[in-house]
Amino acid sequence: MSQSGKRVTVLALYPEETREAAALLKQAIPLMMRHGIPPNPVHYALWYTYSRGLEPNLNRRLDKAVKDFDSFPPETAAKLFRDYIINGELEEARAGQLQAIELVDDIERDVSRNVMGNRNFKASLEHCLEMLQEPVIEGLPTVLSELQQSTHLMQEQQELFLAQLHTAQNEIQSLRDKLERAHLAATLDSLTQVFNRNSFTRLLEQALSNAPQGVALVMLDIDHFKQFNDQYGHPLGDRVLQHVGQVLRNSLPPRAMAARYGGEEFCVILRECTDLTNAQAFAEQLRLKIQSLRIKVRGTDKVLDTITASFGVALAETGDNLESLLTRADDALYRAKRNGRNQVHR
Ligand code: GH3
Ligand code: MG
Ligand code: MG
Repeated sequence: MSQSGKRVTVLALYPEETREAAALLKQAIPLMMRHGIPPNPVHYALWYTYSRGLEPNLNRRLDKAVKDFDSFPPETAAKLFRDYIINGELEEARAGQLQAIELVDDIERDVSRNVMGNRNFKASLEHCLEMLQEPVIEGLPTVLSELQQSTHLMQEQQELFLAQLHTAQNEIQSLRDKLERAHLAATLDSLTQVFNRNSFTRLLEQALSNAPQGVALVMLDIDHFKQFNDQYGHPLGDRVLQHVGQVLRNSLPPRAMAARYGGEEFCVILRECTDLTNAQAFAEQLRLKIQSLRIKVRGTDKVLDTITASFGVALAETGDNLESLLTRADDALYRAKRNGRNQVHR
């Protein structure tokens, strides 16, 4: 639920009817081609929104960007995407998308039922016609035959419409997939699949303004990671980061969020947590899980040296903001390092 209680979902961001959305989509592509904009999901979403024309500021900024630059700068695209497209709650995006797909499926089911209804109608007419081979009333078979023909025509038209709807549905599905991928690309860290730093900042600010009393922050930093990279090389270092990301993702309690804060530093935002001891116990579980990771060098039996991390935890208090809470967690983390690493401090 967002701060104002307003549900912002992908569906709410893109409430067009199926056909309307497909038409907008068809407008967006030539625009992108005209300006030489590469067709990646972020650009696709931006130009789709441009075609809708409901965000005049976005349109002005896009017009200016294509005028000022020879090629569309990725930073500008990312910024515009954040400002105008990802302005809702991340958690609800998927639910919104599923809702949209259900909606399109419902329409398709209705039309299918209609076509089936017509088929039945046609069958019953044919049956009637057989029964009336011997003319009871002069001209009746002709009338029935005409009726049968027009029913057949109606059925063909409806089937054509159904096929068109299928196409539109596929186009919309593909757009929704692209939007979903764009959302993920803009919010997740690509290496570790936890939230990136931008999302982390936004989510923590949101959590603090919603219910500061229930927010705790866990900050962790891998121990002697520079040394690890020097010994095993950067690619294996990257795999360690991926494993740590996976540990975090698999350990999150409800409503918690994990993020990569920087190189080998991660944060977890805990919500509905009012006791620092609980946050500390959660961090202790993470510490043990990271310490028990056994990472094998691919294609060999060699297991890498034990990985450890140091942790700092802090509980939000009234009047805390992003900086003050981060500073307390960082100070605690610093104490954990100074005290010998592989430990949790508060
Ligand atoms: P400490 O225990 O004090 O944290 O020691 P440390 O060596 O982990 O700390 P330091 O900050 O000196 O080094 C962090 C290292 O993390 C340096 C850098 O090579 C490594 N690192 C940062 N980002 C990445 C990354 O994306 N991949 C890999 N493989 N290494 C990274
Ligand atoms: Mg560090
Ligand atoms: Mg480190």
